[in-house]
Amino acid sequence: MQEKTTGLYSVKMRASREGQHISGAEKIVPARRVAAIASQLAERALSHPKGDPDFINIKVEAQPRQIRRVKALSVTTHETRTPEEGLSLAAELLAGDGITRIGEIMNRFSESHSMRGAMLLDADTLERLEPDPERGVRATYMDDASSLEKGTARGKNHYAEAIVLATKVQNAPGIVAEICVSDDPDYVTGYVASKRLGYRRITVLKKKGDPRGGRIFLYRGQRERVAETIEFLERVPVLVEDVPILSAERAGDRMLSLASDLEKRESQGLSRRCRTLCSPTGPTAVVDGRELVVLSSNDYLDLARDERVTSAAARAAREWGAGSGGSRLTTGTQPPHAQLERDLAEFKGTEAAIVYATGYMANVGAITALVGKGDAILSDGLNHASIIDACRLSGADVFIYRHLDMDDLDRKLSMCREHRRVLAVSDGVFSMDGDILDLPRFLEITRRHDAFSMVDEAHATGVMGRTGRGLAEHFGCDHPDISMGTLSKALGSEGGFVCGSRLLIDYLRNFSRPFIFSTAPGAPAVAAASAAIKALESEPQRVERLRENVATFLKELAGRGISAASESAIVPVVVGDERAAVAASAALEKDGFLVPAIRYPTVSRGSARLRFALSSAHTSEQLRAAAEAAALAVREVTR
Ligand code: PMP
Repeated sequence: MQEKTTGLYSVKMRASREGQHISGAEKIVPARRVAAIASQLAERALSHPKGDPDFINIKVEAQPRQIRRVKALSVTTHETRTPEEGLSLAAELLAGDGITRIGEIMNRFSESHSMRGAMLLDADTLERLEPDPERGVRATYMDDASSLEKGTARGKNHYAEAIVLATKVQNAPGIVAEICVSDDPDYVTGYVASKRLGYRRITVLKKKGDPRGGRIFLYRGQRERVAETIEFLERVPVLVEDVPILSAERAGDRMLSLASDLEKRESQGLSRRCRTLCSPTGPTAVVDGRELVVLSSNDYLDLARDERVTSAAARAAREWGAGSGGSRLTTGTQPPHAQLERDLAEFKGTEAAIVYATGYMANVGAITALVGKGDAILSDGLNHASIIDACRLSGADVFIYRHLDMDDLDRKLSMCREHRRVLAVSDGVFSMDGDILDLPRFLEITRRHDAFSMVDEAHATGVMGRTGRGLAEHFGCDHPDISMGTLSKALGSEGGFVCGSRLLIDYLRNFSRPFIFSTAPGAPAVAAASAAIKALESEPQRVERLRENVATFLKELAGRGISAASESAIVPVVVGDERAAVAASAALEKDGFLVPAIRYPTVSRGSARLRFALSSAHTSEQLRAAAEAAALAVREVTR
C-alpha cells in the first residue's frame, strides 16, 4: 500500500569507540520532531552500557513523499529448553517454506562473526549473494509507523526493533525467510521469520557462551534480480504498522511488554537472579554444592548464627508465636517489641527508639512522616535507594547535594528558607563505597540552618565506633535528630529502627504509615536482635576484629596493585564495565569466593564493581587468598 506522507525525515545514529561499533538506531519522523529525536538518540549513544563513544554520527535525510507502509509480522514465542530443541523447531518451521538445510545454514554464522550486515544466501544452494561479503547487506530505513503518531521516541526496545526489521526483510522481493541469532555469547534467544510463519521467537536457539550469531536472509529467485532486493533492503523506506509491542495496553499483550523490558536488561548484562545459599548465614556458604568464602554479606559481626541469638529467636517463637498477627498499634505489640525498643535506645544512648519491619520501611516511614508538600529535603547524591524512594514518596521538594560535599549542603540549605520544615539526610556509611559522613560537620551545618538532621546508620551500627555504637561514638559527637539503622546487618536479624528523642518517637508512632499500616515484625526476629545487642555489648572485640580484617584486606589488595580504600567494612573494587564486573565475579567464584558484581540500577551505569563486605569471622588466610584471587580476576577482565 502506498500512502502520501509529507515532510518525513530519517534520523540515524551510529556510535563507536576506536572504530568498534557501540550502538545504533534509526527513526523516521516528521520535520518538527527531527531535533528532539536527534537529541534523544545522542543521549542514548552517550549512555550506552558498553561505554562512552569517541564518535557519534547523526545523519538526517529527507525521505520520499511516498513511503511504503506494511503490516507487522505476527509474533509467536516458542519456549525451548535446549539449543537442540530450538534448532529442531526452527527446522520444522522453515520446512514449510521449502528450507531444508537448516543445520548447514546455522553453521554459516561462523562466517558472519563481527560482520554488521546480514548474510544473503540462496535458499537452496546456500551460495552467498552479497556483492561485498565483508560488509553483508544492511536492512535500514524503517521504523514503527506508530512512532510518527507518538509524541516521544520510546527507549530502545530490542523486541520492537527486531520485529520492524524482520517485517521489512520479509517484504523484500525474493526473500523467503530470515534466521537471526544474537552474537552476544550470553543471549541465546533468536528467531526465524517468513511471510507464512510470521515472526517466531525461539527462546533457546544456541548454546550459552557461543559467540556466533548474526542475521541470514534467504533468497529464492533470479540471480539478476538480487540487486533489486538489496536496493529495497538498503534504500527503500518502510513504515511498519501494528507492531505488537506498541499495543501493550491491549489485554494479552501486557506480558509481551514485560518480556521486552526483561530482554533489554538481559542483553545489557544487567539481568539478575537469586542465588540460593544452602547453609546458615556466616563467613562461608554452600552454593551449588560447593563451599565458598562469602565476602559480600552484611552479617559483619557473625551474629546471625550465634548460639545466643538463634536460641533467643527459637525461644521467642515458642513463647510468642512465629508471626505477630497485627500491626503495632492494634494487636502486634508483644513484650519483645517493647524490650527491643528499650535495648536500642540504651545501646545508642538516645531517649527512645521505634522498630519497623525492615530498614527500608524505617527510612520511608520516618521521612514521609516528617516532611511533605511545602517542605524540603536535602539528600546526598549517593544515598541508599530506600532514602531516594522515601524522598519521592514524601511530596517534599528534594534537593540533591554532591556526595559528601558539606559546602554544597550548606549552600543548598541556604536556598530553603521559605520551606516549612527542612530535613537533611545522609547515609552514615555509604552502602556501595564504604565511605563515611563527617557527622560533626553535618550536625553543625544542619543546626545552623535549623534543619532536621537524619543519618542512616545501616552499615555503621555494630561497625563504627570502638564498641559499634555508630558514627556518634566514632566521632565522639552528638547524635543526629533522627538516627536510623537496621537490625539486618551487624545485628544478624531483620528489621529497622529509628532512635531519637521521646518526642520524635511518639510523633513517628502516630504519623509513620509503614509503622501504622504494616504487620509488626515477629517476636523471633525482634528477640534475636535484642540478644545480638547483648552479645555485642559483652564482646566489643568483635568490632575491633572486623576493623583489623579490613586493614589486612586493604593491605593484601594494595600489595597486589589493587587500590581500594574504606573506613568501614565495605571495600569496593570498581571495575567499570558491567560485563567485566560480572566476569570478575564469576572468576572469583570459580576460585571459591562469593563476591557479587554490583551493577546498575544499584550503582550508576559504567561504575559496576565488586563489593567486598567483610566479617569479623574471616580468617587472615581467607582474606589473603581472596585478595590474590581478586587481583587476578580484575587483571584478567580489564586487560
Ligand atoms: N539503608 C541502607 C544504607 C542499606 O544498605 C539498607 C539495606 N540494603 C537499608 C537501608 C534497608 O535496610 P533493610 O535491608 O533492613 O530493609
